[in-house]
Amino acid sequence: KQHAAQFLLDAARDYPRRAAVDFLGGRLSYAALLQAAYRFANALRHLGVHQGDRVAIMLPNCPQAVIAFYGTLLLGGIVVMTNPMYTPRELLNQFGDAGVRTVVTLDLLYKRVAQTAEAAGLRRIIVTSLKDYMPFPKSLLYPLFARRQGLDRSVDYGDGVYAWPKLLKAASPEPYWHNVDPEEDLALIQYTGGTTGRPKGVMLTHANLVTATIQNRLWAYRCKRGEEVYLAALPFFHVFGLTVLLNQSVALAGTLALLPRFDLDLLFETLKRTQPTVFPGAPTMYISFLGDPRSLRFRGRAPSVCVSGAAPLPLEVQERFEALTGGRLIEGYGMTEASPVTHANPIWGKRKPGSIGIPFPDTEAKVIDPETGEELPAGEIGELIVRGPQVMKGYWNRPEETAAVLKDGWLYTGDLGKMDEEGFFTILDRKKDLIIAGGFNIYPREVEEVLYEHPDVVEAVVAGIRDAYRGETVKAYVVLKEGSEAGRDELDRWCRERLAAFKVPQQYEFRSTLPKSLVGKILRRALLEEEAERKA
Ligand code: ATP
Ligand code: MG
Repeated sequence: KQHAAQFLLDAARDYPRRAAVDFLGGRLSYAALLQAAYRFANALRHLGVHQGDRVAIMLPNCPQAVIAFYGTLLLGGIVVMTNPMYTPRELLNQFGDAGVRTVVTLDLLYKRVAQTAEAAGLRRIIVTSLKDYMPFPKSLLYPLFARRQGLDRSVDYGDGVYAWPKLLKAASPEPYWHNVDPEEDLALIQYTGGTTGRPKGVMLTHANLVTATIQNRLWAYRCKRGEEVYLAALPFFHVFGLTVLLNQSVALAGTLALLPRFDLDLLFETLKRTQPTVFPGAPTMYISFLGDPRSLRFRGRAPSVCVSGAAPLPLEVQERFEALTGGRLIEGYGMTEASPVTHANPIWGKRKPGSIGIPFPDTEAKVIDPETGEELPAGEIGELIVRGPQVMKGYWNRPEETAAVLKDGWLYTGDLGKMDEEGFFTILDRKKDLIIAGGFNIYPREVEEVLYEHPDVVEAVVAGIRDAYRGETVKAYVVLKEGSEAGRDELDRWCRERLAAFKVPQQYEFRSTLPKSLVGKILRRALLEEEAERKA
């Protein structure tokens, strides 16, 4: 029977000695990973966790995240990947919503979890340390690092708190495997990015994860089993990292080069040391990469597969990355509700810059008129809807919201797009972000693309600001290169030469950074909230 942990069993059988993860130079083979996952599953069982129970994994990318993920799946438990940056309040929301009773976290994060433990009704907190899998002699420096992070080593772990090393050592390494009904049983409750509001729990079944992995594998058909190295910079607690990195690497018996956080020193060190062959990222990661002089060392030396997703990839960024590295940066598209990928450009075949490519294997997609629901012909803009085996079972505990986006197996993405004659899709923007100024439709992305073309612009985002006269008006938030003298007038001239007058930003705000979600999406909503507060 199909099971989301099947890929790990296969990899451990065929490539037992190959490194499954590389954490700052410390490695864990597939055989060792599987054994640790069995130990983790048995430990949970021993602690009274059952099939169907929710287990939150609140960790950065580290070996424990991989072990706990597969261990929970083997047990038949439901994984809830939790953002380690969450505040106690956000944790309480998520743990409460998903009914989490068991949490795996870091010593560095323990305090925040402990603060929610009572209110959330947590019964078991498993605490691990990055040091547990850090290679010697790096681990010697850990106490220093921990002190700098404000880790209070005197915390009293008390009842219901378990130290990872002891727990795993005491647990049996005997294979344990709980059979599941792949179409019915959940593997994951994965929260959405929270870009437009409070994150929603997406129910993904074992079948969803298995098919998503197979679809990815078909798409990356030239990748070879037992040979790839994945640069694991995207966090596993986001669905993009979870599928495109974690599951994909294990399915191909690849090595995950783990980055516990997106830090440029760490990125360049890992690139140099592990020479990854696959680099999936969000657009802002490629922007940071290009902004650092060390990227020049990668002239003509791109990893063979570079994939961008999660947010629109500015053309300018794609071109600069490709000109420097000599490789191809491929854009794809997806959402948590679809495990997540539904579209991608072919990695090796014909691709179209600026488009999200063609539907994934076994995935149907069409563009409909949001008012009438009728399918629109090629070239016309409407809402993108998709259908395929990777589409979620629904939102956890939200039947109304599920009914609003799932109809007849079709997932209503809430994104506006169009399809061309050859079947390539382009995303314009989210339905919610469309700016309507004086009756004209303006797609923020089109204006952003023009801003990104300006040599001094590092990052830009455009949003619709309330305007008494035109309903909404266009405002641009811009991060300029250090020392740039370009100002409002210069950008205004630039935009006027390239855009129809009604699309030209009326207001500018220059900033040193833009608010981003942890996966690197620029948060328009946060900017608009600031705007509303200023008015109030
Ligand atoms: P929430 O649903 O909580 O508001 P979110 O939609 O950002 O957050 P995700 O599921 O992580 O949460 O992101 C999916 C969305 O990301 C898509 O609906 C789309 O708007 C955007 N997106 C993903 N890939 C691309 C892309 N290549 N181009 C443009 N937009 C993209
Ligand atoms: Mg969404």
